[in-house]
Amino acid sequence: MYSPRCMGHMSSVLPAFALMLTNLVVGINQNLVKREASKSFALIERQAAGIFHRLVYGFPRDFYHQHVHSNDAILGIMASGGTLANITALWIARNRCLGRQNGFAGVEKEGMRAALDHYGYADAVLIGSKLMHYSVDKAAALLGVGERNVMRVPVDDSYRVDIGKLRKMIDRCILRKQCVPAVIGVAGTTDCGSVDPVADMGSVARDARMHFHVDAAWGASLLFSNAHRSKLTGIEQADSVTVDGHKQLYMPLGTSMLVLRDPAAAKVIEKEARYMLQPRSGDLGKCSVEGSRPGRALLMHAAVHIIGHHGYEILVDENLRKAHYMAALVRSRQEFQLLCDPQTNIVLYRYLVVSGRLRVPANSRINDLNERIQNAQHRAGRTFVSRTVIEKSFGLRRLSLVALRAVIGNPLTTEEDIAAVLADQLQIVTEIEQRS
Ligand SMILES: *Cc1c(COP(=O)(O)O)cnc(C)c1O
Repeated sequence: MYSPRCMGHMSSVLPAFALMLTNLVVGINQNLVKREASKSFALIERQAAGIFHRLVYGFPRDFYHQHVHSNDAILGIMASGGTLANITALWIARNRCLGRQNGFAGVEKEGMRAALDHYGYADAVLIGSKLMHYSVDKAAALLGVGERNVMRVPVDDSYRVDIGKLRKMIDRCILRKQCVPAVIGVAGTTDCGSVDPVADMGSVARDARMHFHVDAAWGASLLFSNAHRSKLTGIEQADSVTVDGHKQLYMPLGTSMLVLRDPAAAKVIEKEARYMLQPRSGDLGKCSVEGSRPGRALLMHAAVHIIGHHGYEILVDENLRKAHYMAALVRSRQEFQLLCDPQTNIVLYRYLVVSGRLRVPANSRINDLNERIQNAQHRAGRTFVSRTVIEKSFGLRRLSLVALRAVIGNPLTTEEDIAAVLADQLQIVTEIEQRS
């Protein structure tokens, strides 16, 4: 994970202080489920939530003075990963839209069937990009929505949600009396780093009075950068935002956060238990999928102070610069085809030429070859990129392509390393051809 030529995964090298602070978290062993068991870490977690809330929403200072340490407010919920943060967001969204009303106790108490009956809905669906992360499927399954009711909006040539199609899909759902607990935008897709038009999606969701969730597990760190922040314009319209510390914040696994615009939003998932989690106690375990959990918020809190806002800006700017460098290198070589201009620091491309012949072979053969290249590269272990399958239009034809996926997140990666990865792939092609 630390190798500068291993550029295929979303988590990478950690700063040294992360290890030291992890020792502290483990050694002190406070439990964030309950205030009594986390006298210091509960405060740190609340502050970390405030810091990330401010990064996303930028509310005035007074807002934070009022809410960061108020037992009635939750500005963010720590989770062990982006998956759990997304599930939590959609849990809140479901409960808000099928809540308590006129003698009906709400979906959380009465279940999906009774809730849909009460509100007169045929069923419920979640709507978002075709490239949404599969954690949304998990959420749909867990929340009684059903994976088949995850509606995936087609994307444009840049792999961003097609707004016209999103509008149509929402209209159709309303006509069919389907409940839409949430519209989901992705700020940095896992496949290719594309960023949905979150401003437009936010206004569509607002017009339809639907919860708008932005999955910024990958892209949130762009908010630190003056040069790139505008790619996420509109994120402040989101009701909830997922941030993954273990991706572009260079924190260890287990440091994700769901940020909530409305400090009262989490009330709809609140639980109480007699032996603990008393009302108005400020126990953080009342509003999370997880029960007992460690004080990893310390790492988030420390990172924004030690690496700092400007430090992250440098990291982000450098990653994007290197991604564009790689894209240019790919474009300059006739053996490779760039599949999408990088919007963040993921570069999607594929190997194209077979045996130096200029005639382009059938797509399925190119797919096979790219799969073999990536497998052989993984086995050889000198360099690494990952692999995905993505659709692309060529004129009127839409093809499924096996794509090589470079994730440029390691600060130690240089332009030389990037060139070496491509050279290694060409070397591997030669070896494959010699063998066959
Ligand atoms: C990585 C990722 C997730 C899932 O996060 P985990 O931390 O692996 O659970 C969700 N959404 C997007 C866009 C991601 O890139």
